[in-house]
Amino acid sequence: MSEAATIGGNDVLIVVDVQNDFCPGGALPVPHGEEVVPIINRLAARFRNVVLTQDWHPRGHFSFASSHPGKKPYDTIAAAYGPQVLWPDHCVQDSAGAQFHPALHIPHAALIIRKGMAATIDSYSTFYENDRTTPTGLTGYLRERGLSRVFLAGLAFDFCVRYSAEDARREGFAVFVVEDACRGIDVDGSVAATRASLAGHGVACLSAREPV
Ligand SMILES: [Zn+2]
Repeated sequence: MSEAATIGGNDVLIVVDVQNDFCPGGALPVPHGEEVVPIINRLAARFRNVVLTQDWHPRGHFSFASSHPGKKPYDTIAAAYGPQVLWPDHCVQDSAGAQFHPALHIPHAALIIRKGMAATIDSYSTFYENDRTTPTGLTGYLRERGLSRVFLAGLAFDFCVRYSAEDARREGFAVFVVEDACRGIDVDGSVAATRASLAGHGVACLSAREPV
């Protein structure tokens, strides 16, 4: 990462959804998702402050295609809060698929934010659920801890990392996405759309391999 990104005490790494279901063999695998694990382990060791996020749905969650008769995964429905992509059942609370990848090793992580827990609202962002009004509480945690620069890594680049990064900017944080520590799903060009959108929001994309 560049000189401007030298890591300090006011910086936090948010590790997004590095869970079994989002890795190959899981219910909603992000291609090559497991490749981020060693990169993130090394990256996290450079941060004093680390937060983990965990998609954590009740059974029969609104975002599951199986909850909508006649629909299949990757269809889009009109939710009260806007379009909602439907997914295979994934990250069901207390299931093996919802656990963190077994090789993820960040013992100094101070907080786990669980999201997508409301039965009728999905949550891509780790700051707000998809209705854009229900907060997870993460903004308050970061502010109370005096953390002002947010670095994001994890799964998937074009969904939960993207929306978390854009919400962090809206909340007034400086935001950096460590892009080589992310992998994307790429639904209908969503990776390219994410890069453009992040740039438009003033989110810098970095590489973990650049020296700090
Ligand atoms: Zn989910």
